[in-house]
Amino acid sequence: MYSLSTPLLDVKGIGPQIATKLATIQLVTVKDFLLWLPLRYEDRSHLVTIQELKLNELVTLKGKVINSSNFYRGRRSIQNATVVDETGKLKLMWFNSPSLASRLVKDETYLISGKLNDRGMMVQPVVENLRDDTIHTNRLIPLYSAMPAIKQGTLRRILKHILDFLTPPSDIVYQLLEPAKLPDLGTALTQLHFPDTTEMIVTARERLALEELLSLMDKSKAIKQEWIDQGTAPTIAQPTGRQPTEPTNSSKTAQLTQVTLPFELTKAQVRVIGEVLQDLRQTIPMNRLLLGDVGSGKTVVAGVAAWEMIRAGHSVALIVPTRILADQHLATLEKLFPNMPRQLVITSPKKKTFTLSEQPTLYIGTHAVINRLSQIKPGLIIYDEQHRFGVTQRSYSGEEVNRSETSPKKSPHILTMSATPIPRSLMLTIFSHLSLSVIDELPQGRLPIKTWVVPQTKRASSLAWIDEQLGPVLPPAPTTDVPLSSQTPASNQALIVCPFIDPSRIEALENIAAVTQTHTEIQAAFPNRRVALLHGRLTKARQKEVTDQVYERSIDILVTTPIVEVGVDLPAAGIIVIEAADRFGLASLHQLRGRVGRAGQQAYCLVFSASQQPAAFDRLTKFSQITNGQALAELDLENRGAGDIFGTQQHGFDQLRFASWTNLELITLARTTFEKLHQLSPELAKWQPLFDMRQLATETTPLAN
Ligand code: ADP
Ligand code: MG
Repeated sequence: MYSLSTPLLDVKGIGPQIATKLATIQLVTVKDFLLWLPLRYEDRSHLVTIQELKLNELVTLKGKVINSSNFYRGRRSIQNATVVDETGKLKLMWFNSPSLASRLVKDETYLISGKLNDRGMMVQPVVENLRDDTIHTNRLIPLYSAMPAIKQGTLRRILKHILDFLTPPSDIVYQLLEPAKLPDLGTALTQLHFPDTTEMIVTARERLALEELLSLMDKSKAIKQEWIDQGTAPTIAQPTGRQPTEPTNSSKTAQLTQVTLPFELTKAQVRVIGEVLQDLRQTIPMNRLLLGDVGSGKTVVAGVAAWEMIRAGHSVALIVPTRILADQHLATLEKLFPNMPRQLVITSPKKKTFTLSEQPTLYIGTHAVINRLSQIKPGLIIYDEQHRFGVTQRSYSGEEVNRSETSPKKSPHILTMSATPIPRSLMLTIFSHLSLSVIDELPQGRLPIKTWVVPQTKRASSLAWIDEQLGPVLPPAPTTDVPLSSQTPASNQALIVCPFIDPSRIEALENIAAVTQTHTEIQAAFPNRRVALLHGRLTKARQKEVTDQVYERSIDILVTTPIVEVGVDLPAAGIIVIEAADRFGLASLHQLRGRVGRAGQQAYCLVFSASQQPAAFDRLTKFSQITNGQALAELDLENRGAGDIFGTQQHGFDQLRFASWTNLELITLARTTFEKLHQLSPELAKWQPLFDMRQLATETTPLAN
């Protein structure tokens, strides 16, 4: 008998050689192997007689072999056989399968799956010995993606063997479910591989989806407990005076911080600042996710939190995905909080050393900050635009903080900011280790960005329109010598964004080729305009130079990869063109669109697409009509296959193989089941999460130490 934890090496039919190969794709135990799921199923369940055979129809029949032969033609071999049933006679033929011919025994009856061809025979049919529990014929047949060292047929045989000898896993969850709602675990695993009906595939998958969601909830709960147990966080002062948790909205002063802001905070900002500061007064480390549309004003929230922490005597790390963003935050926060000590931390080949400030300081930077966390010992870590952080960077950060030996009992507070809209109820249902704050309104007076989908045929005329919008042509920029500030500033600017071609989102060479080509084309189309090129393969110095020029408006048109997506503030830019927009998910498009109109001017987004697919056009049209990021994210979710969803990766959703976070009904069932599990505390010890939610640990652990 096997259990889910039996090593594959102990399974009959898997020798050391195969086991080693399987281990390279992380298949080590029976459980791993059983969760190697069919890509699809082929319906070979239709049983017919020879007389009933129809051209090209995939069927199974029972046929008695009356003869078989094998002969060679050069290096190739051909096998023939004739079978009969009570209704007729059929010829079968295979290529290069000599062992098959020798297996066929005259006068024996076999199950044969295949299609009748126009010459009245079956070529390459599948043959199986006659019996009840077939695995290759006469049923829905699982087809798997290629696996090293094991052929499809063998794979099915081994899986069947395992399932036949599997001790059913203990299944407390099944007892908590309404009768007959979903199958038990053993049945689900069997049905996934050898389903009786297509309906059974669906319920089996749902049953595993439920296990997955329970595993995710369990992990989330464990993370929370672990980090509450592990240390205390530094706190800010308790509020004094009147209701400082809710800074009065009529005032421009965020009371606690005693800073005067150049604008009035929105109600949502006030509320969220209150929520964050409330957390920072507790010794339980905060792990709060701050969601807010692009331009909703998250930076000032981060600033207030940082300033409070610093005034309480603790340093703060603000970690951003790009150097450009680091510079920009530095400038912005300098304006808003002139007295806040701050320091830029970047990697530079020249500047290897890092000097720690004497006083509590806000350290702003990219992953260079992460490398310094053990020195900085921040009381608060803020991640901005978190969806852009790679897995490695973020898990690395955990290690770094853990290495801090001098204050092993201190855990920092974590604030993670993202423009990724994620349905609130969903987050709270699944993740108990995260608190959530949402800025759900934009500062007053923002005009919605007018968005048009531009087909290929209108490309030229829309470029002409852009030229008009950019206003009078300014004298060409002197290339050298003249300081930027003395050049005539552009009154309007256009951003032209080319997609990342490589989905890994690093600046692959083909991206550079595409963006460079567009740059050449645009420069030719706008001979009198100052056109610049920006992408991640330029030197950091050049990138900074270009963004400075755009910022100082000595550039009219910036052609760029989505590097600008990450929250770069270009207040003068009023037009954004998105090339090959069908390649972006709706949430990404929305983020890009948010790059323009940030000074409050009427802004425009032109969505270019040469795609001929109606579905792509449809999706882009929806994008042009919907201005709300949350709504767009929901749409992205519905068309999950089409769009990419930010925020799924770092929340561990993309490791879900069965569950979809659009299936709210199942998520609700998972929640109630999870709660029931916890009420049965003695039995709970028996419940083991089926899935290992590794990613949730590395991705959203609040770097506790
Ligand atoms: P995001 O949420 O995308 O990070 P930012 O924090 O960069 O947004 O804010 C976008 C712009 O709006 C900035 O120029 C910022 O100074 C400004 N801003 C923030 N809050 C307000 C407000 N309450 N009223 C007016 N402008 C604001
Ligand atoms: Mg931002």
